[in-house]
Amino acid sequence: MSHKLKVGELKEFYLTDEEIWRIFTVVLSSKSVKSSTYKYALVKSLIENLYQVNDQFELTYDQLAFSFTKIYWNLIVHHQLIHQNRGKTARVVTIIKEEQTKHSIPSEMIFDKIDETLQVRLVRQVKTTMKENVYGALYGDTRGKFYAFDHKQEVLKLNAAVHSFMLNYQRLIVNLTNYHMATMIEELNEVPSINYLLGKVESIARRSSLRPFEKVLLHYFNADCFYCSKTLTGAKRETHVDHFIPWSFVQSDHIWNLVLSCNKCNSSKSDKLPKRNYLEYIIERNDELNDKKEDATITNLMKNYKHKKIIMLYDYSIKNGFDTVWTP
Ligand SMILES: [Zn+2]
Repeated sequence: MSHKLKVGELKEFYLTDEEIWRIFTVVLSSKSVKSSTYKYALVKSLIENLYQVNDQFELTYDQLAFSFTKIYWNLIVHHQLIHQNRGKTARVVTIIKEEQTKHSIPSEMIFDKIDETLQVRLVRQVKTTMKENVYGALYGDTRGKFYAFDHKQEVLKLNAAVHSFMLNYQRLIVNLTNYHMATMIEELNEVPSINYLLGKVESIARRSSLRPFEKVLLHYFNADCFYCSKTLTGAKRETHVDHFIPWSFVQSDHIWNLVLSCNKCNSSKSDKLPKRNYLEYIIERNDELNDKKEDATITNLMKNYKHKKIIMLYDYSIKNGFDTVWTP
């Protein structure tokens, strides 16, 4: 049984887009009896960490478990969609429900609002469950072609071809995954309709607040709008943290993709890509951030950042249909 594996090696390196699509389609839509929402959550976690890989296309179990836990916390606690599995209760549900009950956490509380020590404890437990039930299972479903994994090193290494495929078709993959995940959750829970669920599933990876990033940026930079240079006086609802490459594409919050912006620029930019010359500005800005290495928070937040990543992200978002450029 592949889910019992402790190590999985890559069975094939060279895959065409067509082969990858075929495997993806089967994995996402399979209706096997044992199917659970785990595979969708893992795909979503991989997408969220796509730009955090190191030069060997590796991700740590900690990175993945953090995204995975956030997704389930928001589904189970915040949206009260408990049934994630056919038959017996999924282990990750038990872990999360237990901690929620123990600390009497109200359901309004989304993952990034809960106490950090509790986050860490949850992530640690979920990481163990992922070793037992998740990595091996998806590895088997993808016939060992998408990634290698090692429980001892706690590392997942993406196939380079799959990494580039995921970048190329990121938007489609996200939409497909959300759709199939919502369909399965609808089958397992008594909920009104798939339209209702899709909206919830689309937002489960989203952070509620970018305040911690705002604090860091305000600490190191002048309180100016990144786009129009207007001074941000700190008046109510004036200072925003904007995703330079839109969140709906990048599906994650990395400080190297976040800038301070005024209310006017933030709302007029909305889901659009800034004009290309801003790419140079953000690269310069990130250089400055990289120079703050004496601050451990920055070192951590800028881990695995390279200029080529944000350039790549910019180009991939155009390929994925973000082709209306915005300028203030
Ligand atoms: Zn502005």
